[in-house]
Amino acid sequence: MVLALLLDRLGVETVVFNTEQTTNRRPRGSTHNSRTMEHYRMLGLSSKIRQLGLPLCHPRDVLYLTRLNGYELARISMGSERERQQAAATAGETEQIVEPLLRANQMYLERFLFEQVGMRRGVTLRFGWQVSGLEQSADCVTLRAESADGHAEQWAAGYVIGCDGGQSFVRRTLGISYSGETAQRSAFMAGRMISAHVRVQGLYASALRGREAWLYNILNPKLRMLLFSLDGKADFLMMMNAAADTSLPENAQLTEYLRVAIGVNVPVTIVGQQIWNGGVALVAHSFGRGRIFLAGDSAHLFSPTGGLGMNTGIDDAANLAWKLAASVQGWGGENLLRTYEIERRPVAVRNTVAARSLTHRLGDIGIPNELDDSTEEGVAARINLGGLLQKFTGQFSAPGIELGARYDGSPIILSHDPPPSDDPVNYNPSSVPGGRLPHLWMGPPNPGRCSIFDRLGRGFTLIRIGDIAPGAAAFQAASRTLRMPMEVINLSKVPAFDLYQRRLILVRPDQHIAWRGDAVPDDLQGLLSTVAGCERISNSPSWFDGDSKSVCT
Ligand SMILES: Cc1cc2nc3c(=O)[nH]c(=O)nc-3n(C[C@H](O)[C@H](O)[C@H](O)COP(=O)(O)OP(=O)(O)OC[C@H]3O[C@@H](n4cnc5c(N)ncnc54)[C@H](O)[C@@H]3O)c2cc1C
Repeated sequence: MVLALLLDRLGVETVVFNTEQTTNRRPRGSTHNSRTMEHYRMLGLSSKIRQLGLPLCHPRDVLYLTRLNGYELARISMGSERERQQAAATAGETEQIVEPLLRANQMYLERFLFEQVGMRRGVTLRFGWQVSGLEQSADCVTLRAESADGHAEQWAAGYVIGCDGGQSFVRRTLGISYSGETAQRSAFMAGRMISAHVRVQGLYASALRGREAWLYNILNPKLRMLLFSLDGKADFLMMMNAAADTSLPENAQLTEYLRVAIGVNVPVTIVGQQIWNGGVALVAHSFGRGRIFLAGDSAHLFSPTGGLGMNTGIDDAANLAWKLAASVQGWGGENLLRTYEIERRPVAVRNTVAARSLTHRLGDIGIPNELDDSTEEGVAARINLGGLLQKFTGQFSAPGIELGARYDGSPIILSHDPPPSDDPVNYNPSSVPGGRLPHLWMGPPNPGRCSIFDRLGRGFTLIRIGDIAPGAAAFQAASRTLRMPMEVINLSKVPAFDLYQRRLILVRPDQHIAWRGDAVPDDLQGLLSTVAGCERISNSPSWFDGDSKSVCT
């Protein structure tokens, strides 16, 4: 749905097929990282999305406890949504977190997006329809779909994108397999997991005694469980290891687990539950063939620790949307869409590996037998473990992973400068082409102020820094010749030059820098042809022959 909205913004019509009649009603991911929020901002939706899920003043803290009514081991303070918005609105001009990370369950987001796609004239919805056949020729893709009530339709389109999840029909039809690590058993969040939507009335007032948080991480010698607050009232997402027989437990059994985790006998309703595989780090060998592409879980499967799965999928959509639009609208070169895989597959490998290592760190935490005891040994065990947990923050916020994805080595990125180091925790803003445009607020702190991202065009944007910066007329003339949309933004020298280091910065429609310089290059037409994918791609991606430990379909 995000891809359909991004394409609609760029004037490309789409049809969205989904087997389900409506959006997923089961809670899954809750983390929309800063980069995802920037994509929502590009769609003009980030403020509305910030209203979803938990109340604005509900703390987004992570609380480690032996039971909900038991001992508190550690609290990672993450502020409330309202506090984060205030901090972003009053931050300095070169503050990089323009859209702070949001916790709002995907279940609420999908409902909201469903309403949004329903309002776009350029998006046709086929919910309740299963795609059952795909064939492609040099000019188009033919797609067959069947509705639940037995109707069949055939559609022809320029391109098809399989955003159809881990069991992707599109990926299998293309004969593309995943490689990487399948569920390696560690003590927690790896192998078969249960997640359940549960309703427990009055929990904040009773067992929690007002200790509001976003995530309750329950650790004791009998059980490990995660409880995520969904609406700040009675709804929670519960996750724990599934029993070895892997069938769904009876509701009565789940209720019993919850009572152990809560520590008091309160009425519990199990709204729904599902089994899934944690601990995987799988990436498709290829992200498409010809006119058919994969995005999201169909291209990569994550362990949920770190909340990177959906976020990486949305970043795929941002990379792909402008390339599809440029190809449909005739200014994208014939090699532009090939760069989708070249740019996104290494990011998928990077992010799946990061999520897997977070899962192992989390799973490998030892739980002492005396942890929940009211003895001296129990006190010592809690101080010890609490100290360790307090430092374990990378899974809840990692700006380096979120904002630091780079496309170095891509044939449509022009750079001779070394990229900044890839630090998962800290984001290093850099104008070396390949990375996200470092952020700049345009104007003094106030809640409605404009970000440089709001000023970028729907095509390419040339940013000129300082009064004597060259280039506007030359870039505009060359881009007109290539029918390439190009906006120009003029910035005064301070503080933009410190941030961008060059007088000219060429930004792609997905906000990544394509080129930088101080003077208009001699072969400007050649430069623009290259960044639009018109030049031949000679390098075959080095990762293609396999970084795999295992292959699975
Ligand atoms: C418990 C849990 C917690 C998670 N937490 C996070 C988190 O905090 N942050 C995060 O970023 N990610 C998280 N994730 C991962 C996230 O949920 C997925 O990465 C994300 O939903 C993938 O989106 P997608 O659109 O690629 O695939 P899906 O959400 O799986 O959607 C695929 C859709 O395709 C449809 N479909 C399939 N086959 C067909 C067909 N033949 N025809 C038509 N339609 C079809 C399906 O009905 C489905 O709606 C979590 C996942 C789980 C299970």
